[in-house]
Amino acid sequence: MADVQTTNQSILVVGGGMSGITAALEAAEAGYDVVLVEKRPYLGGRVAQLYEYFPKLCPPNCGLEINFRRLKANPRIRFFTMAEVSKIGGKEGDYDVTITLKPRYVNERCTCCGKCAEVCETEIDNPFNYGMDKMKAAYLPHDFAFPMRYVLDPSIVKTEQGQKCKEACTYDAIDLDMQESRFDLKAGAIVWAGGWDPYDASKIEYYGFGSYKNVITNVMMERLASLEGPTAGRILRPSDGKPAKNVAFIQCAGSRDENHLAYCSGICCLASMKQASYLREKDPESAATIFFIDIRALDRLEDFYTRVKQDEKVSFVKSKIAMITEDEGTGDLLLEGENTQTGEQIRMRFDLVVLATGMVPNRMSADVTGDISWNEYGFFTCDPGKPGIYGAGCARRPTDVASCVQDATASALKAIQSIARR
Ligand SMILES: Cc1cc2nc3c(=O)[nH]c(=O)nc-3n(C[C@H](O)[C@H](O)[C@H](O)COP(=O)(O)OP(=O)(O)OC[C@H]3O[C@@H](n4cnc5c(N)ncnc54)[C@H](O)[C@@H]3O)c2cc1C
Repeated sequence: MADVQTTNQSILVVGGGMSGITAALEAAEAGYDVVLVEKRPYLGGRVAQLYEYFPKLCPPNCGLEINFRRLKANPRIRFFTMAEVSKIGGKEGDYDVTITLKPRYVNERCTCCGKCAEVCETEIDNPFNYGMDKMKAAYLPHDFAFPMRYVLDPSIVKTEQGQKCKEACTYDAIDLDMQESRFDLKAGAIVWAGGWDPYDASKIEYYGFGSYKNVITNVMMERLASLEGPTAGRILRPSDGKPAKNVAFIQCAGSRDENHLAYCSGICCLASMKQASYLREKDPESAATIFFIDIRALDRLEDFYTRVKQDEKVSFVKSKIAMITEDEGTGDLLLEGENTQTGEQIRMRFDLVVLATGMVPNRMSADVTGDISWNEYGFFTCDPGKPGIYGAGCARRPTDVASCVQDATASALKAIQSIARR
């Protein structure tokens, strides 16, 4: 059972992505006690799964690492992974919260020696790589995981495999009897930073995701490019492992479409431009074609767009691709649509197609007091008439990391004001 001393002067932050980490740090560095809860086994959210950040194209681990150091240095923050809020009662200035902790089956004695993974024979889909490869059922979620600690998948716990892992651990770090547990805490204010999930591309039937192996999504592309990804950083076609030389990016895949996501996710154009840049950088013989309705790149990100356009092997074609079919013999994809600038019909063949799917907000599923409002698309809205619980980052609107950090800082201030009002 976790021992957490909190009062109605404490702040609870739910979601340990860039937004939640920022809100927690800003509040703690202003002198408030903070509890941060994250449902995955590590902090960092979706950013940890990116290969590079636009516009500077640096690795996301740089930004995360700085924040993890701030977290470790600040005794005012307690954080819990594999943790979810199951109940929130009370009101602004005086919330009663119940947190549920899922068992990791590995305790703090873990040194990450990896002996458990060595002996474990069971493999499961790797969620960090969006299921594109398999991993051992005793695993470190990723190379830079924070906290740096292994996890045992529940499927092996009661089996001979679980026992083998336990016996292989010379640090007595595997606890197969670990159980789900709950604890209660008090909070004066709450920040909801639950972030986003990728839109389910299999719902866009005319693009064949799930049926055609060489149609992938933009989040999968980030993992294909990563050295830790399923292809060790080489952008290879899932169907035959050949290098992808001629890649199509389809913008607004499901977005700005009443049948799917009616809104624009704001960052997908930039994400595709970033991906086209690293595709070209990794393989100078490759080419990218970006099919767009209109390009959205605001403020200084316009410069990034200008830079990408200068590469003559990156083409921009104004078109909403209507359909994709697969050449069964080669696994190539045939794209059909209309070039809305020239009126010409498009019939183009590609090795690999990347669907720029949008961001779907994560909503709080807990049994919650009445102080929360969501808009028609499921994003958190801050209703001035309902103070006490504040949204931060992509839980409020789809956006980039820099804007999430600003937004999360603002949410920390709002949470502090809530406490100060009581
Ligand atoms: C393809 C693609 C590429 C991108 N590339 C870039 C880029 O190069 N540069 C850039 O600036 N932005 C980029 N972005 C946007 C970036 O990913 C987001 O801005 C960022 O992830 C937002 O962080 P967040 O903390 O708000 O949400 P998230 O990263 O989603 O984090 C939310 C966290 O909350 C946790 N959570 C959810 N529900 C619960 C719950 N009930 N209880 C506890 N925890 C919960 C989740 O597990 C997660 O860890 C890209 C987006 C896409 C789709």
